Amino acid sequence: MTDLLAARLIRDIPDFPKPGILFKDITPVLANYAAFQEVIDHCVGWASGKAPDVIVGIESRGFVFGAPVALALGLGFVPVRKIGKLPHDTIREEYALEYGTNAVEVHRDAIQLGQRVLIVDDLLATGGTAAAAARLVETLGGTVIGFSFLIELEFLQGRAALDGYEIQALLKY
Ligand code: IMP
Repeated sequence: MTDLLAARLIRDIPDFPKPGILFKDITPVLANYAAFQEVIDHCVGWASGKAPDVIVGIESRGFVFGAPVALALGLGFVPVRKIGKLPHDTIREEYALEYGTNAVEVHRDAIQLGQRVLIVDDLLATGGTAAAAARLVETLGGTVIGFSFLIELEFLQGRAALDGYEIQALLKY
């Protein structure tokens, strides 16, 4: 499917974090300088054509990929975090899980009106987390110009939850 070094390093962990889930472990990509750089270069190449003003990363692996992308593009970085982690005034968006709901937050002053925002995370599964991050950005008056993921789990149809947005995923399973 691909000659990317990252594709050879990502490993499947059965029954993590709970039985029946096959977890994609990306930590070997981070541990390998060439693979990590390759992933960041691809994201930066794609993102630079879209002229973002700011990069949003989703906790926690979205921070690891989003921050170097922001620096490479000469942009600032804004974290979207799980609830209760951000110290200043925040807004919150809930999203559905298989059982129950979860939520993410962003600082109310983190996105300026009219800013073009690229949202980065490691993996697109059902798309619930990414869609909630987009709603946070849009509530603050930003424009989501796209999403960049290292991995897309196509069988979970996350693109349907992000209908109308541009999505880049380096590796698809
Ligand atoms: P979604 O909201 O269902 O799209 O789930 C995406 C979020 O869950 C992302 O923040 C991912 O980091 C995390 N996630 C879900 N499955 C995996 C996996 O197999 N490996 C790594 N992260 C995962």
